Amino acid sequence: MKILILGAGPCGLGAAYHLNKLGYSDWALFDKSDHVGGLSASFRDDKGFTWDIGGHVLFSHYDYFDKAVEESLGDSYFEHQRESWIRILQRWVPYPFQNNVRYLPDDVLQECINGLRSLQGTQVHTANFYDWMHSVFGSGIVKYFMEPYNRKVWGVPLQSMSKEWIAERVSLVDISRIERNISEQRDDLSWGPNAVFRFPEHGGTGAIYQGIARKFSDRIHLDHEMVTVDVIQKEVCFSNGRIERYDYLLNTSPLDLFVDSCTSLPFEIKEASEKLVHNSGLIVGLGFKGERVDPKCWMYFPESSSPFYRVTNFHNYSPNNVPESVSERYFSLMCETTYSEHKPVSEATVVEATLQGLIETGMISNKERDGLVSSYLINIPYSYPVPELGRDRALGSIQPYLESKDIYSRGRFGGWKYEEGNMDHSFMQGVQAVDSMVERYRTK
Ligand SMILES: Cc1cc2nc3c(=O)[nH]c(=O)nc-3n(C[C@H](O)[C@H](O)[C@H](O)COP(=O)(O)OP(=O)(O)OC[C@H]3O[C@@H](n4cnc5c(N)ncnc54)[C@H](O)[C@@H]3O)c2cc1C
Repeated sequence: MKILILGAGPCGLGAAYHLNKLGYSDWALFDKSDHVGGLSASFRDDKGFTWDIGGHVLFSHYDYFDKAVEESLGDSYFEHQRESWIRILQRWVPYPFQNNVRYLPDDVLQECINGLRSLQGTQVHTANFYDWMHSVFGSGIVKYFMEPYNRKVWGVPLQSMSKEWIAERVSLVDISRIERNISEQRDDLSWGPNAVFRFPEHGGTGAIYQGIARKFSDRIHLDHEMVTVDVIQKEVCFSNGRIERYDYLLNTSPLDLFVDSCTSLPFEIKEASEKLVHNSGLIVGLGFKGERVDPKCWMYFPESSSPFYRVTNFHNYSPNNVPESVSERYFSLMCETTYSEHKPVSEATVVEATLQGLIETGMISNKERDGLVSSYLINIPYSYPVPELGRDRALGSIQPYLESKDIYSRGRFGGWKYEEGNMDHSFMQGVQAVDSMVERYRTK
């Protein structure tokens, strides 16, 4: 049984890692780029700053993934306590916003609490993300945080998004806890699965995947872009003319593009893939001379005073993320901006707009701006798979069809599920796809 893997991101590498562990030999992995890691890769710029493709925080729901990370990094990592904050109304509010509204000016705090109280006892059926947030957070929190922030991140009308993906990805509301936090003047920071996270000492997040790939690098073929897949003949054709046959195929490239590349697919499958929506991102890495003493890990920016929705104090994650020097200190800020057909952002002006936004939001002073020594721009055409209302129906026809042809499409954009689109999910989807292929082959 020959297994081909398309993509050397966490999902493809998860499959490869598992095949290697199983002692399986008839498999090969191909990626169009010249490095492994996919969206979880890292880069070092010519000034000596290291950048991820947006703030990547490693957290895991799976022991198997943890083990792979441990094997890759050994003890060459730092452990950080998560600290995330929201910049709003010229002040910092700890995340999650609703639990820490006591930081807001009195009139805004009152609006948020009134909005929450007016919901008590009401049960409303909601059909989309926008209605859902109103029914859960109330008008005040929606007005100041939920709506502007989510519009910035997703870059699509929030009414077009479903609410089914939310579960673990959005912190929910507990009114008595919020009122207690206000009366006891208490910070409430504990939410979510990633309170403590690890970060590689050297090489950014991408170092994890370079370490994993090292064990089977002879089977990884970089600079191989899949251009067509013949699902009947079971053949993949690459842009350099190479053709590979497979018994089972794991695709981790964006599902809509993959479907486009497949020959002889039924019209309904092609039509369904057109329903899949994604946004795009511009990651601006800015390296400065100087010292920044600020323990925050990452910060959210819901307001229109900046193009970015999130900034990471990337120098805090590892001292090796900035240039080494005995005489000079450096700091680095990684800023993420979404663009889409509903929310155009110019690549030509985003660096300048980002610098302006950092000044406007009080993140840096004009003097600090003068210490800018590096700017590094990464354009990611596929950033977030958007959980739109038609997504599950589309996936419900595409995935079973592909599986009937022995093709598994998994990972952040291969599976197109934001709620299962983090590194740990993607890695494990590769592992599970392999188990399923092996099982199906055995019972054929
Ligand atoms: C801004 C941002 C922030 C994020 N933050 C976090 C975070 O904090 N924590 C977390 O766990 N996750 C985070 N993620 C998600 C993380 O990046 C993904 O979970 C992970 O990279 C997905 O792995 P994957 O293998 O499914 O896909 P990818 O990483 O996208 O890899 C797919 C691979 O397929 C290759 N490919 C594509 N087309 C072709 C083709 N035609 N032929 C051959 N190869 C092809 C690509 O080159 C790529 O290497 C973030 C993502 C983004 C965009």
